[in-house]
Amino acid sequence: MMEKPISFLDQLFEKRILHDSGVDGLYARSAQFEDVVSRFETFALTFGADEITESMMFPPGMPMADFETSGYMKSFPHLAGTVHAFCGCDSDHMGLLQCLAEGEDWTKNQKATQVALTPAACYPLYPILARRGVLPEDGAYVALQSYCFRHEPSKDPARMQMFRQREYVRVGTAEQTMAFRNTWKERGSVMMERLCLPHEVDVANDPFFGRGGRMMGVSQREQALKFEMLVPINSTEKPTACMSFNYHTDNFGKAWDIRLPDGNPAHTACVGFGLERITLALFRHHGLDVDAWPDEVRSALWG
Ligand code: AMP
Ligand code: ZN
Repeated sequence: MMEKPISFLDQLFEKRILHDSGVDGLYARSAQFEDVVSRFETFALTFGADEITESMMFPPGMPMADFETSGYMKSFPHLAGTVHAFCGCDSDHMGLLQCLAEGEDWTKNQKATQVALTPAACYPLYPILARRGVLPEDGAYVALQSYCFRHEPSKDPARMQMFRQREYVRVGTAEQTMAFRNTWKERGSVMMERLCLPHEVDVANDPFFGRGGRMMGVSQREQALKFEMLVPINSTEKPTACMSFNYHTDNFGKAWDIRLPDGNPAHTACVGFGLERITLALFRHHGLDVDAWPDEVRSALWG
């Protein structure tokens, strides 16, 4: 009998690049893995550094009220995660401990908190900008990073439940945001070339939930609102989106009431880099030993 080839995920565990937690899509990262992540972030920041007006790092949770405003539950209820906590009295606590001891569901009385897990790195930014009042003439151009949560457990190491996105977000007029997105589609390819990764940009749609969701995906594609940078990671037939180039029109401007100087709702666009995915693509294509990576890749990341 032919032996089954060892999966990419198992190779990563074996080399202790990622560590198994027993839950698919939830992994500890090695220092080596994190070093590549932060070197990629530094590399990414050399593109368009002079255009950024501001940088922010977000915690992995966002205000529940802003999560509700985002409309995420309308489009992606299957991916969302909310933080629940114990808010009871002594006797509730006794009940909880009893459930735990008897192996019953102890979570049923947990109450929703004011925190939702951030589903997309740029969501917490919009309410912050809205709170500042009318945008300046040249809008905003923010570099940010956040851990994100999506409930999509998988054995594909590139599909995690908790992962980081580094993003550039442009907020302004339709012209400013479209120009930004076009520039970044080109820059994304230059970045992938410098990292010697096979890549292809293609139009894409988000995984909208349910029957109505299918139509939303079709419409998103027809309007070419989303593009992805695809790189083979776990499979050659089905490459993985390592970067996304999104134009949200004035949807978020309207939802959070971000205003242009002329009083109209702002348009927004973002480019998102999947930090774990890009790191995994580097390990996949250049080998599990970073010291043996090609000189060109090493000079892009190690300088
Ligand atoms: P999206 O908001 O779906 O366009 O995601 C932005 C970027 O995050 C994608 O281009 C991926 O690189 C990355 N990403 C999305 N989902 C996951 C996931 N489940 N695990 C790891 N990275 C992800
Ligand atoms: Zn975004």
